[in-house]
Amino acid sequence: PQSSLTLLGLGDMGTALARTWLAAGHPLTVWNRTPAKAGVLAAEGAVAAPSAAAAVAANRLVVVCLLDDASVGAALDGIDLAGKDLVNLTTGTPAEARARAVWAEERGARYLDGGIMATPTMIGVPETGGYVFHSGSRALFDAHRAVLEVPAGARFVGENPGHAALHDVALLSAMWGMFAGISHAYALTEGEDIAPKDLAPLLSEWLGAMGFFVGNAAERLTSGDFTSGVVSNLAMQVAGSGTMLRTAEEQGVSTELVSPYVDLLRRRLAADPAAHGGEDTTGAILLLKR
Ligand code: NDP
Repeated sequence: PQSSLTLLGLGDMGTALARTWLAAGHPLTVWNRTPAKAGVLAAEGAVAAPSAAAAVAANRLVVVCLLDDASVGAALDGIDLAGKDLVNLTTGTPAEARARAVWAEERGARYLDGGIMATPTMIGVPETGGYVFHSGSRALFDAHRAVLEVPAGARFVGENPGHAALHDVALLSAMWGMFAGISHAYALTEGEDIAPKDLAPLLSEWLGAMGFFVGNAAERLTSGDFTSGVVSNLAMQVAGSGTMLRTAEEQGVSTELVSPYVDLLRRRLAADPAAHGGEDTTGAILLLKR
C-alpha cells in the first residue's frame, strides 16, 4: 500500500496536487477553509477532515498549499504539530520560510519548504517539465521523497529553509524581465504591417540565442573577469541603447519597461568609462546590490 498523507488547502494548486496523490493510490486526508472544495475531493476518494486539527492529526506527513504565509499561520494556529513532517508548498519570501521553519521546529515538527515551478495544469504531467524546489530538513525530504515526487519532480536546494523560495523567486524574476522585454517588442510593432504571429517565431529564436548570457554572467561573476573575450562591449551597448529608446519614441511607445535597465548600464559605464567600457553587461549586477 502507498503511504498516506494530509493536504491542507484545496485552491487551484492544492486540488491539482490532491488528484495526483489519489490517482497514485496514496490515502489522502484533506482540509480546506471553505468545506465545499473538500467535498469535491471526497467524492474522488479523499477523506475530508472536519477541521485543520483533525486533518493534521490523521497523518505524520502534512503538506500545506495555501494562499500566502499569513494563511498558513491562520490555518495552523494552535494545532499540535509535535512529531509531524510539515511540507509547506505555499509561496512566500525566504525570510518568511526561515521564520516558519523556526516556528514549526519550536512545535516539534520537521520542516521542509517548497517553491512550485509549475502551474496547476502542469501538475501530474511530467512532460511539461514542472517541478518543486525544496529546502530545509534533508531527513524529511529523504523520508518522503517518493510521495513528494508524485505531483512533480522534486529538487532539493539545501538545508537553509529560505533557499527554495529564493530559487523560486530568482527564476520568476528572470521570467518577468523576459516578459517585459517581449511586451515592449510587441508594443513597438503594434499597428505596423508586422503581424504578431510573424514576429513571434523571430522573438523566440532570438531569446533562445541570447540565452547564452545566463552561463556567461555566471562565469564572469565567479571569476570577477568582466572583460576577457567580450564581443559586445558596454560602451557600444550604451550607445546602442539610445537607438532603442529613440525608436520607442518614434513608434509612440513608452520606454518604462526598458529604461530602468538602460539607466543601470549607463551608470556602470559613467562610473569609470575607461575601466568599464570594455566589459560586457554583467558588471551592472554589482550596482543592484544594496
Ligand atoms: P487559490 O487562490 O486557488 O487557493 C488559495 C487557498 O488558500 C484556498 O484553499 C484558500 O481557502 C486558502 N486560504 C486563503 N486564505 C486563507 C486563510 N486565511 N486561512 C485558511 N486558508 C486560506 O491559490 P492556488 O491554489 O493557485 O495557490 C496556492 C499556493 O500555490 C500559493 O502560495 C501560490 O502562490 C502557489 N502557486 C500557485 C501557482 C498557480 O499557478 N496557481 C503556481 C505556483 C505556485 P478557501 O478555498 O477557503 O478560499
